[in-house]
Amino acid sequence: MYKLNFKIILAFLLIFSSTFIFAQKKFTVVLDAGHGGSDHGANRSYPDIGLVEEKNVTLAIVLKLGAMLEKNKDFKVIYTRKIDEYPSLTDRTNIANRSKADLFISVHVNSSPSRSATARGTETFVQGPAQNRENLEVAKQENSVIYLDEKDKETFASYDPSSPESLIALKLQQSKYLENSLIVGSFVEANFEKSGRFSRGVKQENLHILRRSAMPSILIETGFVNNYEDALYLSSEKGQQEVAENIYKAIIDYKKATDRKAGVELITKKPEPQKPVEVPLKNDFRILLMTVPNKYNLNDPELRGLNYILPIKENGIYKYYYGVTNMASVKDINLKTAKDAGFKNAYAVGFMPNQKLVTGYYNIEVYAGKDKLSSNSPILLALKDVERNKSNGIFYYTYGKVYTLEDAVQLQKDLEDKGIKNTVIQKNFK
Ligand SMILES: [Zn+2]
Repeated sequence: MYKLNFKIILAFLLIFSSTFIFAQKKFTVVLDAGHGGSDHGANRSYPDIGLVEEKNVTLAIVLKLGAMLEKNKDFKVIYTRKIDEYPSLTDRTNIANRSKADLFISVHVNSSPSRSATARGTETFVQGPAQNRENLEVAKQENSVIYLDEKDKETFASYDPSSPESLIALKLQQSKYLENSLIVGSFVEANFEKSGRFSRGVKQENLHILRRSAMPSILIETGFVNNYEDALYLSSEKGQQEVAENIYKAIIDYKKATDRKAGVELITKKPEPQKPVEVPLKNDFRILLMTVPNKYNLNDPELRGLNYILPIKENGIYKYYYGVTNMASVKDINLKTAKDAGFKNAYAVGFMPNQKLVTGYYNIEVYAGKDKLSSNSPILLALKDVERNKSNGIFYYTYGKVYTLEDAVQLQKDLEDKGIKNTVIQKNFK
C-alpha cells in the first residue's frame, strides 16, 4: 500500500514537472538583417562574382539562421525585416525592446576604406563600457521602464529614473548585458574560426543599434565586401549557410550556458555561498572626484554628467564628492561609476555621521563671482543676513551657520527649495 502510494505520487510529480517544462518561456531571438531597401550598405562589383551587396547578403544569412531556429521548439524568432525594406535603426531596436527578447543579433558585412583589400575576416561588436554613461542617459530619457525586466521590477520596486538607486540598478543591468553579449560574441567568433575563417575577434564599440537594445546584443560583421575571398564566400549559398550555422551553434551554446546556471546573470559569476545580509558601515562614504580651486555648476562638462555631487569648500579649495552611502557594496559601485566617468584618481572618503565641528562651523556659499550682486538679485531678496566678502577680485556671499555636515546639507536643500541653486557647503575653521 505504501509502495503504491509512492508510485502515484511519483506519477503526479512526473506529470507536474513535465507540464512545468512545457510551460517554460521560449527563448526569444531578434534577428536583424543589416540595411535594406534604399540603404544598400557596403557593396562591391567583381567581374566574375558580379555585384555583392551587403543588404542582400545579410538578409540571406538571417533567413537561413531564422529557419534553423524556428525548427527548434525552444526558440521564438522575431525578424526586424524579412524582405528588402529599410526599418530605421530606432524601429529595429524598438521591435527588440517591445518583444522583451533574450538576445539581439544584427548581421552585417564589412568594408575597409582602402581599396587595397587587405582587410579580411569576421568581427563581432558589443556595446563598449566607455559609453555606459551615455547609455544611462538614453535609458533614463526614453526606455526607463523597458530597461527593467520582471525580476528587476521586484528587486527595484520603487523605480524612479532620477534616483541614485535606480542609476545603480541601470548600471548593473548594463554590465549584465555586456558580460552576456561578450559571451555570445566570443562563441560566434570561435565558431567562425573553427570553420576556417579569419577571426578579428570580439570588440567593444559605441554603435547605435547596440546602444539602444535592452538585452544582450551583438553586431556581427561576417566578412569584408572588398576582400575578394570574403566576397566570394559571402555571396555563395554554401558560405551563407555556413555563417548561419556558426551563429546558430553559438546561440544554442549560449542558451545552454544560461539554462545550466538557471539565470542569465549568473553565467559569468561563480556560484557564491549564501552571503550574510550586508551590515551597514559605521561611517558614510562619499567618492572624492577632484580637489580644485574652481567652482563648477551641475551641468558643467568638468563633472562629466554625474549627478548627486556635493561640493565642499575648505581653505579656498573645492572638493567634489559623488554619492553617499553606508553600504560597502554601494560604495564600490559608486567608485566604479566615478572611474568609468573619467575620474581615474577618485577614492572613497569616510565621514563620521553627525559629527559636530568644535573648532569651526559650516556655512553655505550662495554666490561667488567677479560681479557684485545687485540689491534686487533673487539671492539677496530671498535671504536676510547674507555675509559678503571679497578676495582676489572675487565677491563671495555666504549664508547660515551650522555645526554638522548633515545640517549643512539640509540647509543647502532648503535654499534650493527657495530657488537658490548651485551653492557650495563651506567648512570654516576658527
Ligand atoms: Zn552594415
